[in-house]
Amino acid sequence: MEIKLFNTMSGKKEIFKPIIKNCVGIYGCGPTVYNYAHIGNLRKYIFDDTLVRMLEYNGYNVNYVMNVTDVGHLTSDADEGEDKIRKQALKEKRSAYDIAKFYERAFFDDTSKLNIQKPDVVCRATEHINAMINLIKRIEKNGYTYLAGGNIYFDISKFKDYGKLAKLNLKELKSGARIDVDKNKKNPHDFVLWFTESKFKNQEMMWESPWGYGYPGWHIECSAMSIEYLGEQFDIHTGGIDHINVHHTNEIAQAESATGKKPWVKYWMHIEFLTSTEGKMAKSKGGFLTLQSILEKGYNALDYRYLCLNTHYKNPLMFSFDALDSAKNARERLNRKILEIRKNVDFSSSAKKDYHEIFHEAINDDLNLPKALAVLWDVLNDKDLGDKEKYNYVVDFDKILGLGLEDLEEEKIELNSKDKALIKERELARKNKDWKRSDEIRDILAKKGIILKDTPNGVKVELK
Ligand code: AMP
Ligand code: ZN
Repeated sequence: MEIKLFNTMSGKKEIFKPIIKNCVGIYGCGPTVYNYAHIGNLRKYIFDDTLVRMLEYNGYNVNYVMNVTDVGHLTSDADEGEDKIRKQALKEKRSAYDIAKFYERAFFDDTSKLNIQKPDVVCRATEHINAMINLIKRIEKNGYTYLAGGNIYFDISKFKDYGKLAKLNLKELKSGARIDVDKNKKNPHDFVLWFTESKFKNQEMMWESPWGYGYPGWHIECSAMSIEYLGEQFDIHTGGIDHINVHHTNEIAQAESATGKKPWVKYWMHIEFLTSTEGKMAKSKGGFLTLQSILEKGYNALDYRYLCLNTHYKNPLMFSFDALDSAKNARERLNRKILEIRKNVDFSSSAKKDYHEIFHEAINDDLNLPKALAVLWDVLNDKDLGDKEKYNYVVDFDKILGLGLEDLEEEKIELNSKDKALIKERELARKNKDWKRSDEIRDILAKKGIILKDTPNGVKVELK
């Protein structure tokens, strides 16, 4: 069955055809490990995970490479500000290497709780400095660089297609540019490949290079490491939409000017933001939510995965605890239904639909996971299907959804704090003979599948 993917480069859904038959190379921009990932970042890795699973479901041999940025990412995506890891190291009074190691571990803890499969290759920037230096040498040899103030810069005026991913207009870029703080740049959108004239004289992470003792600009790591593990041209590159204008634009300029091969990447896929009432969730803003913080409120990591699956990756996802509550309720109802059908072994079926086909079409259509989830619910609600057959569908669909549906254990009845508060309020209402409010609360909870039964020994809670 054909797969269609939305390609940011063409601005269209395209039929997916890998460079090498049956194999897919994917590079996903990984975390900058100077703080805990927030749930917006994690949305991106849930997306990558479902993309890999979908391609594997289609029989491809997938090589998914993810980097870990442990050096070089400044507080602005351009070359301004401080090094994020150094800044955090000073704040926490720990070494930059310690900071990077600590937050990398925390990141993979989160991803494993979210049932995200580990990438085939995880590559750290600090362990690939030679690959970066070699790539910069190639870019320099091909005439795309200049030296100024001790740093080596990429000269965007030499690269004809600069900005094609973001559809940037170079003339407009020049005239509309902010006054850049780096006086060495010929064009405000030129960017640093290697810093020797560091803004931070006591920078802990530094290496020898042909241009002097220093450290890499942020963008070079992704071009260098993806080429190292996936070759000079590969299939899919992923990231959040914030990477289109600067980071991915610069990655393309570096890779294609070094190798001379176009296109470097065949399909560019970008995920929309997770937002809150304050706009895009961002580490720099503070007040962001980590996975741990929502676990502490009594949610399961898979409630958040379910929430993400239910919004297409090209739509913004507005986070709220009400939305997370709905996802939690839906996931728990799903689990209870599956536990119920798992007990039965009947095969009888007179189903009128081939749900495999419908599900497969949904996931192959640019990862339409909200539709795929709806197909799963249709299966469970189909009165013509036998339980055994339903269960076979569940196990198959969960290869993509990753909601742990095959390994369900009987769950304890766990209510969130809001539901508990409602039950308390109802008890009080009953004491005060406020039957109207008491019935109202019973109905609210019943809609969520929480059934209250008043017994002589008090209220009994059952989940439906
Ligand atoms: P970082 O760790 O800051 O380098 O970001 C890791 C990934 O998360 C990148 O691919 C970003 O594009 C993505 N990202 C950052 N903020 C958000 C957000 N609010 N929603 C979705 N993805 C995001
Ligand atoms: Zn990157």
